[in-house]
Amino acid sequence: MKKVGVLSLQGDFAAHGAALERAGAEPVFVRDPHQFGQIDGLVIPGGESTTMLKLLHYDGLADALAEFGRQKPVFGTCAGAILMAREVSSPEQESFHMMDIGVERNAYGRQIDSRVTEIEPEPEFLERTAPGKLEAVFIRAPIIRRVSGDAKVLARYHGDPVLVEQGRHLVATFHPELTADSRVHELFLEKL
Ligand code: GLN
Repeated sequence: MKKVGVLSLQGDFAAHGAALERAGAEPVFVRDPHQFGQIDGLVIPGGESTTMLKLLHYDGLADALAEFGRQKPVFGTCAGAILMAREVSSPEQESFHMMDIGVERNAYGRQIDSRVTEIEPEPEFLERTAPGKLEAVFIRAPIIRRVSGDAKVLARYHGDPVLVEQGRHLVATFHPELTADSRVHELFLEKL
């Protein structure tokens, strides 16, 4: 069984652990740099990206994460997607440049900042996984404002990209770990 790390400094790492188990992988809760050597891929969960960034530096994981991303697949949800972006706005923030995307934080505004909705993924996502709409949970989500290079949009919400892959990496601005549908995690496991 594939071992998939879940960065477990802050945020909803436990829900990702359960989602990975449902999708058929063994989760490893990563809190220490040496654990990067034990995993085939990594999930960066949702949470608060500024706090996660501080803890990554404080706990000495930032360099190991950057190096891991140069070699192995990484899947970021929400705050995780913010950390993987090439540029971050509102406000600007350091990031790991793993994908050619630009994100604007908390871009849906404070009044309507969280919602559960159904989205129709792109045909390619459906062909590679299984048919059917995706339930998408947004919690103070960023909006992906720019997608370039060979980054590919796999689902949109109101025209904005919400699920994007580039090579071995994947990001979602919603929270697939909070629904019973395993297709997004399964798609990530295909990359390992
Ligand atoms: N608003 C958070 C941030 O900017 C992300 C929210 C989430 O991960 N659910 O980091």
